Amino acid sequence: MVAVMAAEAVAVAASNIFGLSLEELTAEFSLLKLPKFRAKQIAAWIYQRGATSFEQMTDLPKSLRDQLIELYEIRPAKLITQLDSTDSLTTKFLLGLSDGAAVETVLMRHDYGNSVCISTQVGCAMGCKFCASTILGLERNLSAAEILSEVLFVNSTLEERIDNIVIMGIGEPLMNYDNLIKFLKMIHAEYTIGLSYRKITVSTCGIVPNIYKLSEEDLPITLSISLHAPNNELRSRLMPINENFHIDEVVKAGRDYGEKTGRRVTYEYILIAEVNDTKEHALQLSRLLSGQLCNVNLIPINPVAERNFKRPSKESVNNFADYLNNRGITATVRKEMGANINAACGQLRLRKK
Ligand code: SAH
Repeated sequence: MVAVMAAEAVAVAASNIFGLSLEELTAEFSLLKLPKFRAKQIAAWIYQRGATSFEQMTDLPKSLRDQLIELYEIRPAKLITQLDSTDSLTTKFLLGLSDGAAVETVLMRHDYGNSVCISTQVGCAMGCKFCASTILGLERNLSAAEILSEVLFVNSTLEERIDNIVIMGIGEPLMNYDNLIKFLKMIHAEYTIGLSYRKITVSTCGIVPNIYKLSEEDLPITLSISLHAPNNELRSRLMPINENFHIDEVVKAGRDYGEKTGRRVTYEYILIAEVNDTKEHALQLSRLLSGQLCNVNLIPINPVAERNFKRPSKESVNNFADYLNNRGITATVRKEMGANINAACGQLRLRKK
């Protein structure tokens, strides 16, 4: 009885093959005694041509298609709604997952190419005080297949290619580490979109042990660290995770990442009027990062209805940037996109009711 149940459980788990890597597909199909090239062929159908049924795979023998239909399904996330910004440069996709949860993905058409901003969790447990994604807490991690689905769905809507992926949507990617790594390897693989690791940015609130782990993976992705304050006291007030990993440990891990990988780390710094945007804060920040190969990306806060933070004036944002640049810290101000569809940073949230 137990054996029967276990066998059934395996069959159920194996039924959706969307998200299996080529190696996993090869292993799965070897049970059916299929030659290796079949796995390659099917992977290309699923991940490059967007097939969701074996019937579409017209270059497979009919008998094989029938056999596969009996055994497997191909179920990526499905579109629920799509919203375009008024300037049509930004599109937000709400994708439905098999358990009824939904995930948000944003396409940004920059003058330097198409960027896709993806989520790694349903909700977020980090509790940052300025962020809308964490208000309802964490529901669950996304699987590697679900993360992959976000990118491939956007890819299927585009005629041109995807040029960049930024992992800056909902959730903390380094709290979903194994699925993140599996996703990164798959999206880089030739049988999907073969995106260069250098075109991928992972953003973290500073999960220190996993920053070290990531630096050992030999994946030359860009690391972006959400700093948002120049000292422990203020950072802990804005970002509770700072109580677990203090600011100096975070910056040390960032320095180590840069040295090990040779990749310049980005520090994101949201500017909040009268909270972290004074000359004194800029001075502290420049001291904290001095001598480190890094960029600072300044983000005027997107005010979130549920949070009482204000955006500083343009002048004060520029002064902050000048102050850092004059002290040898490269700082740029992030261009905002998608505000009118609630797709701006920290606003990726389903207004369900
Ligand atoms: N958890 C990861 C990635 C998701 S957040 C991280 O913390 O980096 C992506 C970026 O959006 C982070 O830098 C985050 O701090 C920022 N962000 C969150 N809320 C924001 C808001 N209201 N305005 C501007 N940026 C915000």
